[in-house]
Amino acid sequence: MIDKSALRILVLDDESFMLKLLARMLANLGFTQVTTCDNGRGALEGIDCPNSRPDLILLDLNMPEMDGVEFVRHLVERQYVGSLILVSGEDERMLQTAEKLVQAHKISVLGHLCKPVKPEQLSMLLELWTAPCLGESRIAKKTYGADEVRAAIANGELVNYYQPKVELATGKVDGVESLVRWRHPQDGMVFPDQFVGVAEEHGLIDELTRTVVDEAFAQAKTWQDNGLQLRVALNISMDNLATLAFADHIIAAALAAGITPDGIVLEVTESRLMKSLSAPLEILTRLCLKRFSLSIDDFGTGHSSLSQLRDIPFNELKVDQGFVHGAADNVTLRAICCASLSLAQQMGMKTVAEGVEDQADWDFLRSTSCDLAQGYFIAKPMSAAEIPGWIKAWEASIETLMKAPGER
Ligand code: C2E
Ligand code: MG
Ligand code: MG
Repeated sequence: MIDKSALRILVLDDESFMLKLLARMLANLGFTQVTTCDNGRGALEGIDCPNSRPDLILLDLNMPEMDGVEFVRHLVERQYVGSLILVSGEDERMLQTAEKLVQAHKISVLGHLCKPVKPEQLSMLLELWTAPCLGESRIAKKTYGADEVRAAIANGELVNYYQPKVELATGKVDGVESLVRWRHPQDGMVFPDQFVGVAEEHGLIDELTRTVVDEAFAQAKTWQDNGLQLRVALNISMDNLATLAFADHIIAAALAAGITPDGIVLEVTESRLMKSLSAPLEILTRLCLKRFSLSIDDFGTGHSSLSQLRDIPFNELKVDQGFVHGAADNVTLRAICCASLSLAQQMGMKTVAEGVEDQADWDFLRSTSCDLAQGYFIAKPMSAAEIPGWIKAWEASIETLMKAPGER
């Protein structure tokens, strides 16, 4: 709960009418420490004084002298730790862009309001306010050196987590995606963005992928023996596809584990531009001929794009989470998401939406022709041991989820 009498709010807008209107709305909502200011320079003076520094600023983007974007830059220089709500008469896309910009500066933004501002919308955004955890979000994530990553692989500190993918039409569990984690003896759980790139840069990615593949294939066999039919997806780095022996390793590993390729999905993202496409093409075509499924991951970002769709025989397309979460009420995201789904379907590919984070995302995707969904709304990545229990709990809750929004 917000302490409405303790939260210091500053309203910054060049129109005195808007200042009065917003101050009245805030007062009606029970906020007692509200100040107003009609220009950026004056507002910064208040921020420079520790006793009057606001916890939250309602910021108009369009102001004649110092505009909202410039004001934000001054906040960054002052290492402002409070939150912002952006207010503007500009269109929705402009406001979204401004919001992204503020986030890129690592300033907390609760959301944006289009003028004319409605009290319900203001109230909803204010509910999102939480006290800043000082410094924590600003500490850069620790990075690791090549030697540490090499030792982690050699010492068996890498472990696969698995995140379920479910059918949107039926709720049935289709399979899991393996996501590597590093159980660091001192630092605890370390996520792939902190070491996969290091492995790629220092020639360790083949070793890393082998570890992941061997563990995932063994796990797939165990599930199969226990009567769980799960397709298992693995993330493959484009750098793995530079050496022709990679295909042989995958084929041999499946054979050794006693599993058939048709239950394995290889998810490929191109994070950097490839120098030559001939080796990746040869490897992926061979794996496809052996009946492994190929999936284009993070579709729509970086180099994961149309020319790859043209050149590589993918069976599955994963719409990047950046186009999925929030698509229900964002015209731009919805257009990109639906166009990607349609493109994949025209090419006979299976479709997966990643980043399904809430009920609205789920309901939206159920209204599209997307085949599979994956994301925190369904389940977070978990250890292999947790999967059977999760499936039981999920199956028990399917009936409610499959109901249309109005029937729940
Ligand atoms: P990815 O393959 O696109 O995997 C999806 C990432 O999004 C995972 O992050 C997952 O935990 C996260 N995620 C899942 N659901 C949601 C959601 O609803 N909302 C949000 N915001 N995020 C969600 P993670 O595990 O940190 O992995 C990040 C990336 O690291 C992966 O992206 C993949 O590109 C790479 N990676 C993971 N495991 C491996 C691996 O074994 N080998 C290689 N080469 N790359 C890997
Ligand atoms: Mg993936
Ligand atoms: Mg992805």
